[in-house]
Amino acid sequence: MNAAGKVYLVGAGPGAPDLLTLRAADLLRRADIVFHDALVHPDTLALAVRAEKIAVGKRCGRHSTAQRFINKRLIDAAHRYAIVVRLKGGDPMLFGRAQEEIDALEQAGIAYAVVPGITAALAASAVLGISLTRRGMSRNVTFITPRTGKGEDAHDWARSALAADTCAIYMGVGEAAHIAATLIDRGASPELPVVVVENATLPDQRSVALRLADLGAVSTLGITGPAVILIGEVYDRLQPTIAAVPARRVDAVA
Ligand code: SAH
Repeated sequence: MNAAGKVYLVGAGPGAPDLLTLRAADLLRRADIVFHDALVHPDTLALAVRAEKIAVGKRCGRHSTAQRFINKRLIDAAHRYAIVVRLKGGDPMLFGRAQEEIDALEQAGIAYAVVPGITAALAASAVLGISLTRRGMSRNVTFITPRTGKGEDAHDWARSALAADTCAIYMGVGEAAHIAATLIDRGASPELPVVVVENATLPDQRSVALRLADLGAVSTLGITGPAVILIGEVYDRLQPTIAAVPARRVDAVA
């Protein structure tokens, strides 16, 4: 039997509720049920006036709902409801396990659509006022995570990071010292400029600029929100711009 419902994988953006797309807001208003990540802003969820709201988010180191169980719930919901929203932080297609959900929906013969959102690296760049691809300095950007899921092959993320002009590392703050040591060991300059941006676009956003050799020190800064590590020469030349960021600024680590 074909399900009547359709599942929308919707990007919630980086944090600030008004960075949602109009399409996402419209779907939330019409949704019958919303399965959302743990970090989605309450004001964003509040747009889903009619919907039952179910948290299924995964936050590293905390309780998480197994992916297969989430897939099953999406499929079950599509059999019961017309508009099912799976709301994910940032953009669903970047480090969001969207493919697992899409594959499961396709296998179950359920219609789906993806609504993009603003990903963390782009939000952080906006906060800093520093282009990821500053002309004459950076011609490419690499989105990287050093984290591998259970049963996943180890990935040579460092090779991609070393090859990139600018690199945005997601889910990396917990292993910042390891990231720095690995990159330096593999030939990166210890002086390479790095910026860590936490809670980009939210009222408590903050950033810290440092050098690659000092990256491990971020573990002493009490970063508890989601944070992205940006690495590249573009963050050196634009240092004065960083100082102008309205976010609370942590002093550079010596
Ligand atoms: N799909 C999401 C990424 C999910 S992985 C996206 O496109 O943004 C979760 C990681 O995203 C976090 O560990 C952190 O590295 C980053 N992140 C998410 N929101 C962030 C924010 N507001 N500020 C800084 N980094 C953020």
